[in-house]
Amino acid sequence: MNRRRRVYEGKAKILYEGPEPGTLVQHFKDDATAYNNRKQDTIEGKGVLNNRISEYLMMRLGEVGVPTHFVRRLNMREQLVREVEIIPVEVVVRNVAAGTISKRLGLEEDSLLPRPIVEYCLKNDDLGDPIVTEEHITAFGWAGPHDLDDMVALALRVNDFLSGLFLGVGLKLVDFKLEFGRLWEDDEMRIVVADEISPDSCRLWDIKTNERLDKDRFRRDLGSVEEAYQEVARRLGVLPETLPAEHQRPKLVQ
Ligand code: UDP
Repeated sequence: MNRRRRVYEGKAKILYEGPEPGTLVQHFKDDATAYNNRKQDTIEGKGVLNNRISEYLMMRLGEVGVPTHFVRRLNMREQLVREVEIIPVEVVVRNVAAGTISKRLGLEEDSLLPRPIVEYCLKNDDLGDPIVTEEHITAFGWAGPHDLDDMVALALRVNDFLSGLFLGVGLKLVDFKLEFGRLWEDDEMRIVVADEISPDSCRLWDIKTNERLDKDRFRRDLGSVEEAYQEVARRLGVLPETLPAEHQRPKLVQ
């Protein structure tokens, strides 16, 4: 039984009222959806793994000065986060062509992009999260020009840091999606990274074999979805319980 008030339920997560004002509990479900809800399934254990992976990545980002909503992990499926006002714009950073940019621009998957490319999508399921430009974002007031500058600067810092972190464990960060929120502290507003960073929101390919270790295994019916998420957690050294302590550290892949 859950005594806490449910604030929001999304496709892969539930947000509950937190223990103190200004906090929320983010609960990770095993549910997976793709193609704007047309494909739905449960991936056993995904919520537990994403909770750990997102905790790890948000903590590492915090250590290098990237502000995030993450406070601490509470249990296998839940983490405590700061309550923020979510900006309704998803920021996608791409290093290698894959997914919708390949289709849209006729780029072969796995071709290296000339430089990291930032794209914006409006967070609106009914419209299928359409790609939008800076003009749309500022004209419609979804985010102001300063907010957007902060979001892009943070997204590129996240990309630099996470590309290196994943490379160290033999994974290529092909692309990822970030969400941002506004956090007020003493009348000051800061933009922070919110939501989650996990194989649900990143494309991660094995550096040697290009094997997909992310949600594309689900989207494209490649099988072994749970195993792929486990492999990411294992390489980051955050696979829960099952392994002895010496296997729990990130492994440098030469
Ligand atoms: N992405 C996401 N949520 C979305 C759309 C995209 O997390 O609603 C992530 C996706 O996992 C990938 C990146 O953003 O890492 C770029 O996705 P793309 O635009 O290629 O769309 P997709 O092929 O995922 O529909």
